[in-house]
Amino acid sequence: MTAAIYTARANLNPLLIDAPADTEKQTTPGGQLMITTDVENYPGFANGIEGPELMMEFRKQAERFGTEFLEEWINWVDLQERPFTLQTDNKIIKAETLIIASGASAKWLGIPGEAKTPNGFGGNGVSACATCDGPLPAFRNKRLVVVGGGDTAMEEATFLTRYASHVYVVHRRDKLRASKIMQDKALANEKIEFLWNTQPLEIVGTADQGVTGIRLRNLVSGENKIFDCEGVFIAIGHRPNTDLFKGQIEMDAVGYIKTNGHSTGTNIPGVFACGDVQDSVYRQAVTAAGTGCMSAIDAERYLDHLPVEMPSGEEITIEGEHITPDRKLIITASGEVISIKP
Ligand code: NAP
Repeated sequence: MTAAIYTARANLNPLLIDAPADTEKQTTPGGQLMITTDVENYPGFANGIEGPELMMEFRKQAERFGTEFLEEWINWVDLQERPFTLQTDNKIIKAETLIIASGASAKWLGIPGEAKTPNGFGGNGVSACATCDGPLPAFRNKRLVVVGGGDTAMEEATFLTRYASHVYVVHRRDKLRASKIMQDKALANEKIEFLWNTQPLEIVGTADQGVTGIRLRNLVSGENKIFDCEGVFIAIGHRPNTDLFKGQIEMDAVGYIKTNGHSTGTNIPGVFACGDVQDSVYRQAVTAAGTGCMSAIDAERYLDHLPVEMPSGEEITIEGEHITPDRKLIITASGEVISIKP
């Protein structure tokens, strides 16, 4: 998980905690896991920019303003007591405000053959990250399948054409969900072929050879057959990385942290959430950066004793003063009710 948890304090340097690197090739020098290749829609880059390069620029810019980076896994959090507590393998961190930006992780189909070896072919021909695994020798000049019809699938398929002999995109409908620019790029690529209205049922192979094929069902004709291939990349979307916070903060049914839209405030005063961990709709680098900026401003306001709006619509200050959603009353921490006159 690319757990980026950012604590900001007015007039103090922020601290950014990120998951440690699994392997060097997947990460920035600072250890952030990167899986996006071409970013075509981030403002300011007329010709697009590679995801890893963009992230390194983000980091350098944050460092210029004194941000301290800790690359550690967070094992446990306590958001009920103030200051909040974050526990890593060898540190306990206390924070007066917390910005959760832990993003989202790849989803899996849940079909036979998809699990990690030895239970399936995960790591032996099955992957959810073309950028990480596509350049491996096992996939070079091979027939590869990408499952999905969104931007992730188009991006992965396009990237894999650098290495594969041919890429087949398996999509369950006859229309892509991907943005037009990503669709056009994939549709125009001679090395990419689309298998429409097709659902994967099982990934097949042997322990020695790895993946040798994928069983596919044509949802229109009902035909069910094994399609020969040597690699399968699952690219069907992501789920929010919020397990660490379950039971402590309000989330929707899927696990996205609830914020109110006008601010990045959560139901816990002083805890803010930004980026894909709270956004199941837009999920773009630029929108994540935008809500990240909102979070930083919200946290700073909060630490400056100014009210910040919660998902319930009420506003809360760091001293525990509540302003009702209709903005008619202030309820102080001691329970005194004060009417707000226009
Ligand atoms: P997505 O837009 O939700 O697309 C997921 C795709 O997988 C859909 O086509 C869906 O089919 C298919 N799918 C989902 N579950 C499936 C299942 N169980 N079996 C078969 N197919 C299944 O997810 P995404 O592609 O990861 O994109 C998420 C967001 O990130 C989007 O807003 C996208 O624009 C953004 N993004 C941007 C970039 C970039 O700009 N470089 C790159 C990646 C992602 P249906 O269409 O039938 O639902």
